[in-house]
Amino acid sequence: MLSILRSLVQEVNSARDLKEALEIIVSRVQKAMTTEVCSVYLLDPASNRYILMATEGLYKDSVGKVSLAYSEGLVGLVGSREEPINLEDAPSHPRYRYFPETGEERFRSFLGVPIIHHRRVLGVLVVQQRESSRCFDEGEEAFLVTVSAQLAGVIAHSEATGAISGLSLTGEETKDISFNGVPGAPGVAIGTGMVVYPSADLDVVPEKPTDNIEGELELFQSAVQAVREDIERVANRLASQLRPEEQALFDVYLRMLDDEALPGEVAIKIREGIWAQGALKQVVQQYIRHFEMMDDHYLQERVVDIRDLGRRLLSHMQEGEQKHQEYPERTVLVSEELTPAMLGEVPKGQLVGLVSVKGSSNSHVAILARAMGVPTVMGLVDIPVNQLDGRELVVDGFEGQIFASPSADLRAFYQAICEEEAELFRGLEVLKDKPCETTDGHRVSLLVNTGLMTDVVRSLSHGAEGIGLYRTEVPFMIKDRFPSEQEQREYYREQLEAFAPNPVTMRTLDIGGDKSLTYFPIEEENPFLGWRGIRVTLDHPEIFLVQVRAMLKASEGLNNLQIMLPMISNISEVEESLHLIYRVYHEVREEGYDIHMPKVGVMVEVPAAVYQIRELAERVDFLSVGSNDLTQYLLAVDRNNPRVAQLYHSYHPAVLQALVRIAQDARSVGKPVGICGELAGDPGGAVLLMAMGYDSLSMNAASLPKVKSVIRSIDREWAIQLLEDVLLLDSPHVIKSCVDLALRNAGFGRYLRPGRSSGAAMAEQAVS
Ligand code: PEP
Ligand code: MG
Repeated sequence: MLSILRSLVQEVNSARDLKEALEIIVSRVQKAMTTEVCSVYLLDPASNRYILMATEGLYKDSVGKVSLAYSEGLVGLVGSREEPINLEDAPSHPRYRYFPETGEERFRSFLGVPIIHHRRVLGVLVVQQRESSRCFDEGEEAFLVTVSAQLAGVIAHSEATGAISGLSLTGEETKDISFNGVPGAPGVAIGTGMVVYPSADLDVVPEKPTDNIEGELELFQSAVQAVREDIERVANRLASQLRPEEQALFDVYLRMLDDEALPGEVAIKIREGIWAQGALKQVVQQYIRHFEMMDDHYLQERVVDIRDLGRRLLSHMQEGEQKHQEYPERTVLVSEELTPAMLGEVPKGQLVGLVSVKGSSNSHVAILARAMGVPTVMGLVDIPVNQLDGRELVVDGFEGQIFASPSADLRAFYQAICEEEAELFRGLEVLKDKPCETTDGHRVSLLVNTGLMTDVVRSLSHGAEGIGLYRTEVPFMIKDRFPSEQEQREYYREQLEAFAPNPVTMRTLDIGGDKSLTYFPIEEENPFLGWRGIRVTLDHPEIFLVQVRAMLKASEGLNNLQIMLPMISNISEVEESLHLIYRVYHEVREEGYDIHMPKVGVMVEVPAAVYQIRELAERVDFLSVGSNDLTQYLLAVDRNNPRVAQLYHSYHPAVLQALVRIAQDARSVGKPVGICGELAGDPGGAVLLMAMGYDSLSMNAASLPKVKSVIRSIDREWAIQLLEDVLLLDSPHVIKSCVDLALRNAGFGRYLRPGRSSGAAMAEQAVS
């Protein structure tokens, strides 16, 4: 069964479109189960009806014509019950519905299983049999359920591909189709999609037509020539060390590059009007499919060689392409997995929005996007990325939705939101130099989180009182090697100078988890529970020492440096780090630098630290809560995984209780405590944190004016009462609604995200 499944999934994955995918499914399943009928019905969101999309065994003419209302017939029953229904004599069932155009009356036994993807019923997969005596057995039921579970993702993806082209399931034209992901950074952007992808990865090469056929042919031929020369060079170099049969492998490669082999087929596709990279991808994938289907193990293994050859050819072509990459005037960057480096490639002023298939709202790239104020949608798992290149896109970062090729009405709707947001910010500019204090005089420090120099510029113009978290890994991530001590010193000096004499809190390198350095890869099964933050740098004191040395030297004459340690889960990590910091401090002074010992603090972002606040506080000068990680670790929800994004909730009662406890314990030993997770930048979150007693709130620059405006308009007692009320509640959603309602009643409705339905309702209206 497993091998049938594997080859079925492979075939379906490589189908050109939804229609072909469904035809493959029905014909293969019918054969594998030796049943007379196999059909797929898909639920059309536009009409809310199940449409017969493909069949083997019923009359083919009925495909696309027969449809059932949402709760009609046995198909509707399977869909609404969301479980398999297995009947020996279907026509005697009260829900049986007869369609003469399918020829169905000849079939008696019925087995239907729902096709469900991310809790959404996409359709129903049905097998039928003529004899009433043949009830489908348990094994067959299990097989069909497995097929359906495996194929749901592929079907969702193909459906989305059709939708992008503006087609409904029935092939009718549709408008303003939205795709739902997870909000990454708030705001709305309208721009042109630009798909970026990691280089030399054939799977992510987008589909694009070309009218420069000669140019593409030339590009491809020169790549073939370059790869051929590479292989010959390697073969010659290794000739004396290899046996003849091993050397023959190089001949296999070279033969695959003969004009009449792979290059000939790619050239045909380019002449059909496909750009060279896309043509190469198609041919290589065809070869791979072909070899994978073979029974001969040796030939199956050749897939590795073909893939490698494809990668080499692609890499040569991309080298040429990268030199003249042109970004649209208003670029919406789209990628399978966005990286900070990709953001950095877009020319200044042209990046308006971001879309990522992988990642979630607390992935680091989303945090960076928030800091840069670029509307972002993450976790668009089913989106056909390659189809978004060059399309007009609306990115709704409030709702976590994107729209492809919007209608004029929808565009106007979102344009108005963009203007409202801009106006809101203009209105808040007057608060820039005002203190952040409540109407009854309670003062809170509003600090910023930074990573790039551009953040600093924005932060100053928003009235930040210092830096609560400088993510030093950001400058490390956009380089292709570890920055030298001198380079680091320059980055750090910029940040320290910009805010002097106000404090600048620099966190030591926090890599691991979803933050990787291309030049220091960390491959782990459970990266968030693995080698992260302080664990890495204590294992590599040479990295830690150079970094601290650069920080201390950069602080000379400014005296506003604070050092913060990430991912602390043991007291010994603090002690070891302090020992290294003192060592560097004395060495740097001995070198003649006139520096002061910086304040040192720890981040509270691991549950273990919550229970050792006093022990930690005794050893350091301050504490700062990393609520992003604390939430993920307390709730056991990977902050980077869109599948569980709806479970990641910073208003979860357990998170709030932990935050209360940290603030109380820190105060009981007289140490300042701040917070630098994203919750601090959420107006409602900021109110609760202030009520808990946090001394400073550090957030992205874009959130700062809103938070200041709310805090300046309320009194502390009101906030404490709200906190007491919500601490009695047991559901994160109810707590969030309760806080939103309080803010709305206090006149801050305009700071809350528009209702979930706004964009979607507008889209529906526009369609109808
Ligand atoms: C946090 O975990 O809340 C935090 C501020 O650090 P980062 O988001 O960089 O992990
Ligand atoms: Mg963290």
